[in-house]
Amino acid sequence: MDLTRRQKWRIEKIQAERIARANRAADNNDDDVKLNDENSQTGLVITRYGQRLLVESQSGELYQCTGRRNIELSVAGDQVIFQPTDNNEGVVTALLPRDNFLTRAQKLIAANIDELWLVVAIEPHYQFELIDRYLVVAENANLPINIVVNKIELSDNFDQVKHDFSMYESAGYNVRYLSVNEQTNISSFKTQLNHKTHIFLGQSGVGKSSLINELIPDLNLRVNEISTKSKLGKHTTTNTTLYHIASGGDLIDSPGIREFQLDDLTNQEILSGFREFKPFIGRCKFRNCAHIKEPKCAIKTAVEMGDIHPKRYHNYLQLIGV
Ligand code: GDP
Ligand code: ZN
Repeated sequence: MDLTRRQKWRIEKIQAERIARANRAADNNDDDVKLNDENSQTGLVITRYGQRLLVESQSGELYQCTGRRNIELSVAGDQVIFQPTDNNEGVVTALLPRDNFLTRAQKLIAANIDELWLVVAIEPHYQFELIDRYLVVAENANLPINIVVNKIELSDNFDQVKHDFSMYESAGYNVRYLSVNEQTNISSFKTQLNHKTHIFLGQSGVGKSSLINELIPDLNLRVNEISTKSKLGKHTTTNTTLYHIASGGDLIDSPGIREFQLDDLTNQEILSGFREFKPFIGRCKFRNCAHIKEPKCAIKTAVEMGDIHPKRYHNYLQLIGV
């Protein structure tokens, strides 16, 4: 059903009022609130299955919820207002505004992600084109992204590896070198994940599952608990779900996210996906400069001046098919 703009506006207004009331209820000093929304509380969506949501209260209890009609469907990572009913069930009455979200083929996958981590490895050997494509997707979605290089113990020339990733570091990306097998840098990595919500992406075989098992040693127990609470049996294991990391922080994960495939990119997306190009865009002599062969191109000048790494520029040209 398509809603008219006016209907949408009304719904948004009602939701905003509900959020405001729920917030006031949390302060516990509004009589009007106690009449209808006294049980309202803020919760975190752990997973969605069909029209149902598993919501975690601030005290850590799980509630199987349905959503009120006319509320946009939420996903793992969403903050909602809900009212518990009986038997750890409840009704979601409002969706709080999202900071960001991850989509794939126009489908919403997860919300409120603090950090994406692109996991690459020495074996299968990292490829710059693939790395750049992930970075472009993240930049265009306004999602902070970092790089994990795993299996570093397999490298016979670690200096070369560090040299390879220096262009990403100079573009401002955080690059972490790990070995899950040998536990290298794992504990400092865990510290970095504290208090934030994360997603791990990357091609198969790089060690994402190994890393996630390292972070959440009781993952299977948690999956079972969620399956029981949602009364859906094993089905839930394929749904995108938020897990708490043992050492702190949260992880949003699913088989689909681990194998997240990249959509085709437009040249415009590619250009705006190279974050260190940004200060120079719009400064070329020609307004429609493609930054390939044109004279007085600000991007090419920046490469010559050492403000853009030549390898990144080369990768840019490759991605746009030059
Ligand atoms: P995923 O497909 O990205 O989830 O990768 P997996 O976690 O399944 O790992 C793929 C393979 O790499 C498995 O055989 C792991 O044991 C192995 N692996 C994971 N981390 C390391 C590491 O640090 N060093 C080495 N040598 N192998 C690793
Ligand atoms: Zn140009």
